[in-house]
Amino acid sequence: MRGRKNYIKGLITTAQSTGTNGTCFIEEILMARGMQPYKCVVCGYIYEPERGEPGQKIPPGTAFEELPADYVCPVCGAGPRSFLILAERSGRYLCVACGYIYDPERGEPRRGIAAGTAFRDLPDEYTCPVCGAYAKVGKQAFIAID
Ligand SMILES: [Zn+2]
Ligand SMILES: [Zn+2]
Repeated sequence: MRGRKNYIKGLITTAQSTGTNGTCFIEEILMARGMQPYKCVVCGYIYEPERGEPGQKIPPGTAFEELPADYVCPVCGAGPRSFLILAERSGRYLCVACGYIYDPERGEPRRGIAAGTAFRDLPDEYTCPVCGAYAKVGKQAFIAID
């Protein structure tokens, strides 16, 4: 976490020294800061900014840092202080409908998705290769796992 802070500090310093092009750097800072998944250390639940927290009226695209102060883990009820940034991730996603796991290292060669394709780079019309045959189970049915 310290490395990340230094990285952001570095961006701010660069922005200050270059002066004119500040907004571009601020955007970079926002990107570096936001959209990071956080893990509840109590129960292992992962807050996924791309999904948001529908049960607490938090829309998709809400960074963890932007969550209201009264946010609690939807599983165990722990507060935001019990969450830690997820630094190292496998990038694997689980289909909550059937249990299929999308692994970016493998991709889905049979369906033309090359190995190394990150889940977020999958096409919007992507459906689960297992249960998508029965119902239109799309990307929104997937959650990040360790
Ligand atoms: Zn929890
Ligand atoms: Zn599925």
